[in-house]
Amino acid sequence: MIRKIAIDIGHANNTGARGNGLEEHAVAATIAERLAPMLERLGSRVDVIDFPKITNAQDLNATIKAANEGGYDFGISLHCDSADNPQAHGAHVCFYPGSVKGSRLAICIAEPLARLLPGRANTVQSRPGLAVLKKTRCPWVLCECGFITNPENASILKDHPGRIAEAIAEGVKDYINQ
Ligand SMILES: [Zn+2]
Repeated sequence: MIRKIAIDIGHANNTGARGNGLEEHAVAATIAERLAPMLERLGSRVDVIDFPKITNAQDLNATIKAANEGGYDFGISLHCDSADNPQAHGAHVCFYPGSVKGSRLAICIAEPLARLLPGRANTVQSRPGLAVLKKTRCPWVLCECGFITNPENASILKDHPGRIAEAIAEGVKDYINQ
């Protein structure tokens, strides 16, 4: 059976974080655009889940519905962090507590992603409160691909979204091959 992977572009248009002239949904979309063909080259079927033109809350509900109806082996939500302190930087990956596969996928992705975007003390985080992790039935991870509010992270988000996609794809490859 062919493996099916969901890539979720976090938030709807202009409803996520902003910083350094960037907007979270648009940034996640550019990463997803590059990540999808990379995962297809690993022999997977890939759907990009995106509802750009609705509210943030509607986007979350629609994403969870699509995730649970799509028959996915696992899913990856793409986000970026923000903070009042522009010095906060670095990527991390979240999974739902108790999800063995989710935890494994998060560990696999966090390693190359945090190599590209270092700085967080905990690059893998168990998060009970995130609906997209809690309400999706297949293993699901949420990638915070650095801080949109940090100038150095923002320049990677802006100029090198393909490198972020490569790091996530490398982690997915490790997960699949384990
Ligand atoms: Zn977000």
